[in-house]
Amino acid sequence: MKVGRFSREGVLNYGVLDPEEQEWVVLKGDPMFAGYDPTGERVKITEVTLVAPVIPRSKVIGVGKNYAEHVAEMKDVTGGDAPSQPLLFLKPNTAVIGPNEPIVLPAISDRVEHEGELVVVIGKVAKNVPAERALEYVYGYTIGNDVTARDLQVADGQWTRGKGFDTFAPLGPVIETEFDAADAQLQVRVNGQICQDGNTADLIFGIPEIIAHASQAFTLLPGDVIMTGTPSGVGPIVAGDTVEVEIEGLGILRNPVKAS
Ligand code: MG
Repeated sequence: MKVGRFSREGVLNYGVLDPEEQEWVVLKGDPMFAGYDPTGERVKITEVTLVAPVIPRSKVIGVGKNYAEHVAEMKDVTGGDAPSQPLLFLKPNTAVIGPNEPIVLPAISDRVEHEGELVVVIGKVAKNVPAERALEYVYGYTIGNDVTARDLQVADGQWTRGKGFDTFAPLGPVIETEFDAADAQLQVRVNGQICQDGNTADLIFGIPEIIAHASQAFTLLPGDVIMTGTPSGVGPIVAGDTVEVEIEGLGILRNPVKAS
């Protein structure tokens, strides 16, 4: 099922999509914590504004260099070969925005780039989870854009600031709780032009391995998200652009880009 979070006249609700009626079944609470508990109300999808389907309670975990062709294109930028184990970094949850919200370019960066990614939404507290059981801890999947100020990432020699600005973690449009993440086509378009076109089958480290590796280091909390890495084709975005990340089965995450 598709779980969304939306606002109507300033009121936020979670809902489950009824695809035939194109309506949201409005829920009393966050279904990740409160289960499927409808209010009895339904609302047309055209009558609400979607917001980020999850606000991570504690962290957005990123995985760097997780597609071979992307590793190759970054060799002269951030350097290095494919990592021997998942390369993790963190983005603050203050970077999260929802669909159609603008990515704001920091004045101190001359090069901000898109990175379209499949995103795992954690549903249960996870610590030292073996890969064989990792998927039991997944609530669902959504789409993300690991927006990166490439010049600052390179200048700093580490990634926190370059990937951590406000608006640098668009998520959405919805969370799909039944999704085969092992073989999903992922495409990024800037102003309609295809820039990235990959498949999650080409992830160097698959989702179970990433969860196992991350949960060795950090306790994963419900609502934490993991951005699983970007395929090749990353490139700059400038004010006035529109970035779309599409993953078959998950929809399209669309964000305009504006100057600060
Ligand atoms: Mg990335």
